[in-house]
Amino acid sequence: MAYLHIDYHAVLEAFRSHSESCPLCAMISEGERAFWDSTLYGAVGTEGFQDAFLASNGFCPHHTRDFTACNDGVAVTMLYVPLLRHRRRWIEASQRGALHRGWRTLGRILRRRDRRSPGTMAAQRGELASPHDCMLCDRIEMWSDQFLTNLLRHQTDAELRGAVENGTGLCVTHYRRLAERGGGFALRRKQRVPRPAPWLQEFHRDRWDAIVSAAESAVHRPGGAAWRTLITTIEGDSAIR
Ligand SMILES: [Zn+2]
Ligand SMILES: [Zn+2]
Repeated sequence: MAYLHIDYHAVLEAFRSHSESCPLCAMISEGERAFWDSTLYGAVGTEGFQDAFLASNGFCPHHTRDFTACNDGVAVTMLYVPLLRHRRRWIEASQRGALHRGWRTLGRILRRRDRRSPGTMAAQRGELASPHDCMLCDRIEMWSDQFLTNLLRHQTDAELRGAVENGTGLCVTHYRRLAERGGGFALRRKQRVPRPAPWLQEFHRDRWDAIVSAAESAVHRPGGAAWRTLITTIEGDSAIR
């Protein structure tokens, strides 16, 4: 799952098996769990993974919290001792003045041209890292793009439409990405991705209207769960994790 490719059948299956919440949120959660499993049960010990981790300057804060929650001190030490050294080098270099920084920038540019050569050390590749470039976030971007592109490409399929209409549809965050994706190009096939069809737009609009009405009418009834549905519909399942 950590290296999964999301084709049309995966999208159809996701809508069929996650009718109670956003299927893309559910698929991302499954992908994240599989990523941590494969990381802890092997990948963390490989040079390729450790290099990629350094090159992206660690995980984002959200995924750092998830990694911490895995409670694996050995895995954390394997990744974070080199990361601490790597960040220390940055801090120490930035304290050495402008001339030194100029030489380092030139060195980085030269090494960037050479970054794929086998002789380049992991630590040097780490120096080229740009922060906020989490490797798991990168994968989630790719999964989301594949999911939404296939949903738009096959939105006229009766089977898929039936599965969508039997469930709760996408959360607002993922529907917004779907709307932005429509009309763009799929890089590999160089074909324009269709915009969301009228039925897909109406389905989500009606559902959100119903959720707003339910939340507003439940305000004076303590103990209800309508507010929970409201927040997960807007922000996705990660809002309550
Ligand atoms: Zn979602
Ligand atoms: Zn991340």
